[in-house]
Formats: sequence, C-alpha cells, structure tokens
Amino acid sequence: MIAEVIVDIAHSQVDKVFDYIALDNTQKGQRVLVPFGKKLIEGYVINLKETSLVPPEKLKKIAKHLEDYPLILPEMLELSDFMIKHNHLKKVDTLRLFLPSGIIKEKVKPLLKTTILVSDFNKDEIKSSLRKNSKNQFALLDFVKPQTVYKKGELIQMFGASAIEKFLEMGIFKESKQQELRKPEITQKQDKTVKLNEEQQKILEELKIPTTHLIFGVTGSGKTEIYMHAIKRALSEGKTAIMLVPEIGLTPQVVGLFKARFGDDVAILHSGLSMGERFDEWQRIRFGQANIVVGARSAIFAPLQNVGIIVIDEEHDGSYKSDSNPRFYTHDIAMFRAKYNNCPLVLGSATPCIESFQKAKNGEFKLHKLLVRANKKDMPKVQIVDMKQEMLAGNTGMFSRILQSDLKDTLNSKNQAMIFCNRRGFASYMICKQCGWVAKCEDCDATLVYHKDENLLKCHFCGKRYKALTNCPDCKSAYIKMGTIGTQRVAEELSHLFPDVKILRMDFDTTQNKSSHAKILEEFSNTKPCILVGTQMIAKGHDFPNVTLVGIVEADMGLHYSDFRANERTFALLTQVAGRAGRADKLGKIVLQTYMPKHFVYRFMANYDYQSFFEQEIAVRQMAKFPPFAYVVRILLSSEKQEDARNMTSDIKQDLDRLYKDDNNILFCKAMKSPVSRIQNKFRYQILLRISTNKFDEIMDKIYEITDKYQKPSVSTFVEINPNNLS
Ligand code: ADP
Ligand code: ZN
Ligand code: ZN
Repeated sequence: MIAEVIVDIAHSQVDKVFDYIALDNTQKGQRVLVPFGKKLIEGYVINLKETSLVPPEKLKKIAKHLEDYPLILPEMLELSDFMIKHNHLKKVDTLRLFLPSGIIKEKVKPLLKTTILVSDFNKDEIKSSLRKNSKNQFALLDFVKPQTVYKKGELIQMFGASAIEKFLEMGIFKESKQQELRKPEITQKQDKTVKLNEEQQKILEELKIPTTHLIFGVTGSGKTEIYMHAIKRALSEGKTAIMLVPEIGLTPQVVGLFKARFGDDVAILHSGLSMGERFDEWQRIRFGQANIVVGARSAIFAPLQNVGIIVIDEEHDGSYKSDSNPRFYTHDIAMFRAKYNNCPLVLGSATPCIESFQKAKNGEFKLHKLLVRANKKDMPKVQIVDMKQEMLAGNTGMFSRILQSDLKDTLNSKNQAMIFCNRRGFASYMICKQCGWVAKCEDCDATLVYHKDENLLKCHFCGKRYKALTNCPDCKSAYIKMGTIGTQRVAEELSHLFPDVKILRMDFDTTQNKSSHAKILEEFSNTKPCILVGTQMIAKGHDFPNVTLVGIVEADMGLHYSDFRANERTFALLTQVAGRAGRADKLGKIVLQTYMPKHFVYRFMANYDYQSFFEQEIAVRQMAKFPPFAYVVRILLSSEKQEDARNMTSDIKQDLDRLYKDDNNILFCKAMKSPVSRIQNKFRYQILLRISTNKFDEIMDKIYEITDKYQKPSVSTFVEINPNNLS
C-alpha cells in the first residue's frame, strides 16, 4: 500500500502531499514519522492507494506510527478539503486545527500516576510476619482491602514510604501506572428540572428536522432549556452533541449548567484550558468517554463521531469569526458538519446577525420565535437621555442628572448598579459636545477615527486623512472633544460622587491575571451596595439578582466605529447589557446616555424591537450595497520589510485594476496603509474591495490566484471575507 502523507513543517511553504510505502495496518488519518531529507518528521496519512507515480526505487517507507489509531477522523479529512477550498488554507494548517496543540511534537504527555493493586492476603498470617514495632505497617494492613486499587502517592502520605515499599517487597502490593485525566475547573451550578412550555415544546419537536434552525428569542425566553432538551434527545438516540458559546471565560454559567445536568458526559474545550487539560479532554472525546462538547469557537473541530446536533448560542457574536490565521467562520464549519452527519444545526440569539436573520426570513434557515421571557416578566425599562440637553442645562459632567439620582436611589436601597462603557480598542472619535456634530469622511459617511500619535483623523474605510479640529464646523463652539471616556475615569468620577460606596472595575487592564475576572465578579456578588464599572466584559451572561440599575455612558462609541456592522453590533451589545438588570424579582431600569437620542438603533433597542431594527438596517445595507447584498473583502499584507509589503500591494492592485477595469461587479477597490499601520514590527497594507454577489465566487478565485502569484516569504498575505474588523 502507498500512503499519501502531508508533512508538518512549521512556517514553511511546503504543503504538498508525498507518497510513502505504508506499514502493515497504516490507516487513513494516522499520524506518522517519515524520512524527509535527512531527518524524520511528523506527518499525517491523508489517503491510501494501491500505486504511486513515483518510481519504486525513490519511494521511502513510513518510519513509525505515532499512535496505533487515526488521530484524524474521516469526517475531518473531508472537512479539511472543504476548508482548503472554501477558506483557501494550507492543508497542514487545517489538520492542526483538529488536534490539541500539545500533541504535536509531544509537548504534552499523558499524566501517569502510580497505582497500587492489593492482592488477596490473609491478614493474620501477615500480621504474624511483621515486626511488632512497625506501627505504620499494621495501620496500613488494617486500611487496605484486597483486590482494590489505591493511588500510591496517597498511601505514602498516610503511612509513609517505607511501609509501602515493604508491602511491595512482600508481594502484597503490585505497582502499575495509570493515566490520570486533568480536568478543567468549573463552578458547578444547581440544576433544576424544567418542564418546557408549549412554545418551547413545539420548537423542540421541529428541531428534529436536519436543517439549519434559527431560534430568535429574547434573553431569558428559555433557549438554553430547549438546547439541553434537544441534546438529551440526541444522546438517547446514541448520538453526540456540540454546544458552542462565545467565550467560556465570560460565560461560565452555561458550562456549569451542562455539567450539572449531564455530568461527566460533558467535555470542555476552550483557549483558557492548560495544554494538559485540553489534551485530556480531547482524548475523552476521541474515545467516546464524553459525548457532549461545550466550548468556544475551536470546539467545532471536536473529534466527535455520529454528531446528532450542533448548537451555536449567541450566534451573532464576533468571536465566531477567527480573524487570525487560520481564518474561518464557525457557522460554515458547523454547516459542513451538520450536513455530513445529517443532523440539525441550531443557531440561537436575541439579536441574530443580520445575515442569519435575512436567511431565516428567506426560508433558507428555519425560523423559530420566542417573544416573551419564560417567567413572563417584562424586560427592564430603558430611558434614553440626550446629553446635549444636559450640556445646555449646565451639566458638563459625564453622568446625566437622571443617572445620578437613579444611582442614589439604587444605592440607598442597598441594591447594585452596573455602569457600562463601550470602548473598543483604540477607537476614539471627534465630537462637538454642544451640537452633537461628529467628524465623518466626505467619501464614505464613516466616522473618522482619531490617531493621537499623528494628531490626525482618518477614515478606516478608505484611508483618507483629515486635520484634527479645534472648533465645531457646524456651531463654531470650542467644545469639540475626543469622544472617549475610559472605564478608569468613570470609576474615578463615581468615587467622588459616592465616596462611601464600593466601586469595582472590570476591563482589559484589571483582568490580566487568570483568576482576576472571577475575583471581581465574586466580590461584586458579595457587596451591597456596590457599583461595577466595565467594558463589554460585563455584558455577557452574568446573573446578579440585586442589580436594579444599568447605566450606559458613551453609548455612541460603537456606532461611530467605521464598520458596516457598527449598528448591529451596538444593538446586540446594548440589548445584552440591558439584560443584566432586573433579572430576579426586583424591577430593573436602564439609563442610556447619548448625543444621538433619535438614532434608530436606540429607538428600537429601547423597545426591545429587534425585528423593526432589522427592517431598517437591511434597507440601509441594500442601498449602500453592504453584506448581505455584497461582500466586503480585505487583502491584508504584512511584512517586516515595508518596501516588500508596499510593492506587493501595488502589484496586486494593478492586476485587479487591469482585470476588472470595466466590471461593475467590483463596487469598490482601493489600496491603502492599514489603519493600524504597524503591529509587532510588521508594516501593514491592505486592499479593500466590495464585490457584488453575482460573480463573487469567480472573482474570489481570481483574487486567490493573483495573491498566490505574488507570494513571497517576507510578506504574509491574508484574504478576509466580510472581516470582523478593518483595523
Ligand atoms: P435564554 O437562554 O433564552 O436566555 P434560559 O433557557 O436560560 O433562557 O431560561 C431563562 C430562565 O428561565 C432560566 O432560569 C430557566 O431555568 C427558566 N426557564 C426556562 N424555561 C422554563 C420553563 N419552561 N418553565 C420555567 N422556567 C423556565
Ligand atoms: Zn472614507
Ligand atoms: Zn457644534
């Protein structure tokens, strides 16, 4: 037999299949060592065949099987082919996605613990043979039971090493090594059995259909309960299940719930695990010891067989798109696996992504709606505050009068408040505090982003630059400011207003330690009254029954981000933040501060009216020709050598221009420096395109062809379709 082997060489351009002579029982998907040049290197058998075109005298033989079973399942080999085509990835990069990182080059080994098996023994006989003063040995003899296994380390701790050695010598104990599994730490939740209501039951029934479903349901409408019931059904049919959540670190609740209901049948996969934990969880999945995988994005590659259902919760979340190499969109992979296994794919969200909801409306996905909370309670009331009016009334501070008085009431009644500050990355914009005017690009209608180092305003869409201003061009006032208020300043200001109240802060800076996140949340849940200030980190899934007020300062930040997803992201984020208030019996309230009180995102968000928001947003997208009516494509080039990146950018651009000079399927095509022009010493350039849906596949093939043509080792090229961010 001949084995086709992909060799695993890091950072190399080698992505070719080589033929080797197979060993006895070499299997497809197996990891092997093969001679390559003068060395032995790791590779994966991706196919077996009878004959090779390579002359027999040149064929080398596989040196060794690294495991005696295939690491990569047949389904995943097909998925690899799909991703190569669909995402234009290197084969070996896709295969690596399917394996726990520690397994490659044996960075992690199974954790082996020595165990003791106790043989049958006659207690009295042995007692008579022990020395009278060996207390430990007598105690040990009384403790152990025949035909039982103990951990050697534990016995040594209790009775000392010499007693154990003595029993080993006497042959009463037999030593062996056993693998011990490293388990991720989780906070177990209390499970309560819930009887589904009529709407939930109906949806559960319909989820049997093997197609893509979208459950559009307000927060607290009982989506998670439906997932768990559907997964239980799949297990009872002898199948397995994948449950994806955005970021486990931020949503520990779901994991706790699943562990409580399904116990050891649940494996967890996410980036927060240690390499060893990841390795062991992966093994448990591969060998069928865990049939449910709960995890973040990468868990879609879990080595489950016979998948019966795949769920993507909070399907709109940005984390489902990988924007570093290898780039992929989780939904595409999920759809592939669902189709392969002929099982349903369930997307769920209170604020679905625009593309998904559009597909559901078109009938491409099956749409299910849950419009009321499972406990029939109303959503908390949202009050929109116009910050321009505050300014006119003489309040130049960062908190409106109503937010201040609501905070006072909340704290006086010993409840808790959250203050949310939407600050994404380095983004800051220029705003007139008197009239609300915001600096925008003349060509793109996108808000300009302020770059402090150069004192310039830049359009992140077309790259055009503008001088920073000192007066408002509209009302001439000098109250023109950078619109950024950081969490730190908010917390400072609050401590002046409420000197006796505990104020906690959760953002990127305060959560650098592994456990700091949990510590802050723990302290918050134990302190009353208290205010928690934070970024989007505080938006997700936390359940604090005493939070009765949520203040949103700087709500506009997200809308000013120059990105076609700015509206939908802001809508989703604010909805999620609002969902933190009034979760238990206490009534909740949201105060939303803005300079654009009439903006449709706020108007619809305040009424929890996603569907009207969708109608308006989709109309905007259609008119401006943005996804789903066109594709945004970015070709990103980065290199330590600025010249190389710049030259390649202009070469590719020239080819595109020549090819598509008169083609109106290219709606936009421009080359520029990337908004973040240098990262980790690499210079970054980009070509931005918008392409109509008509000839998209054909044009993409050409784009890949052109970028491949100019490929050189000093420049990395990424082609991204509808990227999450353009920085
Ligand atoms: P979602 O995932 O839509 O936010 P959950 O499934 O987490 O909603 O449900 C929200 C709350 O309502 C949970 O406490 C859950 O236990 C409860 N719940 C869900 N379905 C029911 C039901 N049929 N009867 C009673 N309580 C329910
Ligand atoms: Zn522009
Ligand atoms: Zn002005």
